[in-house]
Amino acid sequence: MAEFTMELNDEQKEVRDWLHGFAADVIRPAAAEWDEREETPWPVIQEAAKVGIYSLDFYAQQYFDASGLGIPMAMEELFWGDAGIALSIVGTGLAAVGVLANGTEEQIGTWIPQMYGDANDVKVAAFCSSEPDAGSDVASMRTRAVYDEAKDEWVLNGTKTWATNGGIANVHVVVAVVDPELGSKGHASFIIPPGTRGLAQGQKFKKHGIRASHTAEVVLDDVRVPGSCLLGGKEKLDQRLARAREKAKKGGERVKNAAMATFEASRPAVGAMAVGTARAAYEVALDYATTREQFGRPIIDNQGVAFQLADMRTQIDAARLLVWRASWMAINGKPFTAAEGSMSKLFASETAKKVTAQAIQILGGNGYTREYPVERMHRDAAIYTIFEGTSEIQRLVIARTLSGMPIR
Ligand SMILES: Cc1cc2nc3c(=O)[nH]c(=O)nc-3n(C[C@H](O)[C@H](O)[C@H](O)COP(=O)(O)OP(=O)(O)OC[C@H]3O[C@@H](n4cnc5c(N)ncnc54)[C@H](O)[C@@H]3O)c2cc1C
Repeated sequence: MAEFTMELNDEQKEVRDWLHGFAADVIRPAAAEWDEREETPWPVIQEAAKVGIYSLDFYAQQYFDASGLGIPMAMEELFWGDAGIALSIVGTGLAAVGVLANGTEEQIGTWIPQMYGDANDVKVAAFCSSEPDAGSDVASMRTRAVYDEAKDEWVLNGTKTWATNGGIANVHVVVAVVDPELGSKGHASFIIPPGTRGLAQGQKFKKHGIRASHTAEVVLDDVRVPGSCLLGGKEKLDQRLARAREKAKKGGERVKNAAMATFEASRPAVGAMAVGTARAAYEVALDYATTREQFGRPIIDNQGVAFQLADMRTQIDAARLLVWRASWMAINGKPFTAAEGSMSKLFASETAKKVTAQAIQILGGNGYTREYPVERMHRDAAIYTIFEGTSEIQRLVIARTLSGMPIR
């Protein structure tokens, strides 16, 4: 088990400074343009691929950092640069993690390289779980996957929504119902290979923030994929379903939900994104407050402004500590007995929303315009309390974990 330390080692500092340089020199200067264009910033993703930031290798290295701090540190720096562009860079990781967590070695080796492409021809991937009638309530998912035994193919039908990179991805990972009787335990994940017939992009959403990240519906109309596209394989699925049916028969038994443990481990990464956006807005506000003069003195000389900055910084640091604690717990396999992963995401995302709003206030009229970045950062920050589980769902998970009530 890695000792917990607040101090990054030399190697981590080097990676952090390298990422910060990329965020400052490449991401931040492009942020306003791609926010206005509301398009995927392909040239920036390509730059990230060229230097090695947009690659599975990079994420694997950060993920397996024994301290657990590799991923939160990387997310904080990239999202400090700009949330929309950073999500375009890390969005593929969500689909890749789906394959890493559930796929066979062969599936990992086949599909993950196709998710990223290479520096000369970058690709992206999408993870499609949410549906119009199944957002927080994942168990009400309707997209069906039916096995055609004669052809050893799966046939998928349904509509996914809110998919980051949906429709523009080379590889889509789609969660579908294979046994409707079993609720969320009757779900399975499928790879939809590039160019598969029947998969189409539906509506592309025009969003409030993170506008450089593509979000769209994905429509599946008699999509046929080979049996080998079921993540983990048929034998493992059959065993899992048999166990779930057995438990359902016994009834009332409290089953530890493996998916919940995965969420606890992945949520701190979203918390770290929120910390990055909050820190960016705080830095702009601090700089502005020390240089902007009214009534013959810098506005930070007013306690009303100075105390806001003190609170902002305190909350950002507290959020980072919660994120680091949960990330350390995840890498060391510590049980999340108080839903510490959800706690970190809840606190960091709410902090980002609050801090970016305060930053606008500190910049006055300038804060309200697109001449300064805090207006964009505030729009971007609103996503953190929504995706990967809303703040209400985080509270629900924390409360049910504390009380011992089952999490469905
Ligand atoms: C920009 C963006 C990108 C996304 N990317 C992806 C992606 O790549 N892949 C993917 O699968 N999904 C993605 N999502 C979907 C995201 O995870 C969902 O939007 C989120 O889970 C909430 O679902 P919903 O929007 O249907 O809201 P709903 O579940 O309808 O919730 C509406 C409101 O009701 C509240 N609520 C619901 N249930 C309860 C309850 N039991 N108690 C208290 N309050 C409750 C919620 O907190 C919320 O405030 C993305 C969403 C956005 C906006």
